[in-house]
Amino acid sequence: MEELKHPLFTEKGVQVFIKRDDLIHPIVTGNKWRKLKEYLLIAQKEGSKGIISFGGAYSNHIYSLAYLCNALSLPLELIIRGDELNENSNEFLMQIKQWGAKMYFISREEYKTKIIPPQIYSKEKLIIPEGGFAAMGVDSVRSLADEIAFNAIDEVFLAVGTGTTLIGLAKYLPNLKINGILALSNKAEIDSNIDQILSAKQNIILWDSFISKKYGKKNTELIEFCTFFVQTFHIQIEPIYTGLMIQSFFKLLKEDYFKPQTRILLIHSGGIKH
Ligand SMILES: *Cc1c(COP(=O)(O)O)cnc(C)c1O
Repeated sequence: MEELKHPLFTEKGVQVFIKRDDLIHPIVTGNKWRKLKEYLLIAQKEGSKGIISFGGAYSNHIYSLAYLCNALSLPLELIIRGDELNENSNEFLMQIKQWGAKMYFISREEYKTKIIPPQIYSKEKLIIPEGGFAAMGVDSVRSLADEIAFNAIDEVFLAVGTGTTLIGLAKYLPNLKINGILALSNKAEIDSNIDQILSAKQNIILWDSFISKKYGKKNTELIEFCTFFVQTFHIQIEPIYTGLMIQSFFKLLKEDYFKPQTRILLIHSGGIKH
């Protein structure tokens, strides 16, 4: 965890810190290691015959998982959204193939059902849901909460995909305000994920007002913000998750959303693929 210094923070009287989970590993960055660790320990302990998981063709989840399964010699089968794709459709899928994962490309409609094709399914394989979202993935985030717990922090900001990291932090840091910035238009899904794990929304604030209408690269204001951030703080960020989250935090700060003396922690959840 490091403090970020900027004249705007001084002007508003707040202290801003960043948790550098992007430095965990060059490939398995940020929350992907946090979320996958418990699943992989279980797979090893139970002697699973392999792992089955799901994801989009650019998903950091399947990329990190493919690297880890290769390193741990666990056979991996991936069900990937989009039957127009194949193993050579992009450089990440090509790398995943190199790491030895078997990929199945299915239509978007079929993908929504999350049904595992019978020729792949086996009781002896461990199924990791999309983005690691399930009770085990949430509990796996506890290590991140524990590293934050002993610091004097009032508000946490993080980017949300499936909400696994958000829910884990809310569960294990019940006294902090946990602000989740939605990266995708999936608020109903996140609300339902929260309801599955927590008995109340408790300390979660879900922000869906910052979702980029222009996905990723086309949003020039967001791209310019990322450039400003990288040049000012010398920390790499990508636009889809961490970039959007930090830009949203800056907007709130400029609008005087925070009381003076507030201590804010930004979670750098990784996402830079190498
Ligand atoms: C996957 C990912 C997220 C989303 O995490 P969830 O736990 O699914 O909400 C956020 N940031 C980055 C960089 C990611 O790769």
